[in-house]
Amino acid sequence: MRLDRYISEATGISRKEATKALHREEVTVDGVVHKKGAFQVPEGAKVVLNHIPLKVLGPTYLMMHKPLDCVCANDDPVHMTVFSYLDVANPAKLHTVGRLDLDTSGLLLITNDGQWSHRITSPKRECSKVYRAWLADPLTPADVEAFAAGLQLRGEAKLTAPATLEIVSEREALVTVHEGRYHQVRRMFAAVGNKVEQLHREQVGELVLDPELGPGETRELTPEEIALF
Ligand code: URA
Repeated sequence: MRLDRYISEATGISRKEATKALHREEVTVDGVVHKKGAFQVPEGAKVVLNHIPLKVLGPTYLMMHKPLDCVCANDDPVHMTVFSYLDVANPAKLHTVGRLDLDTSGLLLITNDGQWSHRITSPKRECSKVYRAWLADPLTPADVEAFAAGLQLRGEAKLTAPATLEIVSEREALVTVHEGRYHQVRRMFAAVGNKVEQLHREQVGELVLDPELGPGETRELTPEEIALF
């Protein structure tokens, strides 16, 4: 990769700014000052800008325990973003695999591999998602049947695909859905006259949120976990 592009990708600054930094002799490659943007960075070379080592992300696959009160977006004028919890110099190259609401916690996947994330979010694949929900009102066996039969969500023509509702206790349930409609789980409970008070995603496909991860913590996926999708 060209040196100016390398600096831009690693830091998020523009190619123009990278060129200026090169002319100011702020960049070394393997300890040698380089001024030319066209210089090809050798594989494994150590690129340093103003004494800060740079790193261009290779293929990246992360599991985050998304905390409450942060948004799945690269920028937000009001709220923290999930990317602010990452120790990555240029998170603009990353995206979340689907989204969780501001007030939903749990398993969130983050990557820079668009094909991989498409395999998870593509409606054709019907990848399952498991949520634990805490409700305002008691759950009933009729709710289980309604979730299995498909629900009419407000403003939507098509019923929801069959979903599994497992009652854990009077006001706590596990819900497995195979689609990813906007605010889906909250709207499904609204459709049976209930209200979600708390929502947490535990699983995507066969991948379960690592119990070692506290809210806001992230770890890399193992090759086996990446290969699940
Ligand atoms: N369903 C919701 O209502 N919210 C989420 O964040 C995820 C699924």
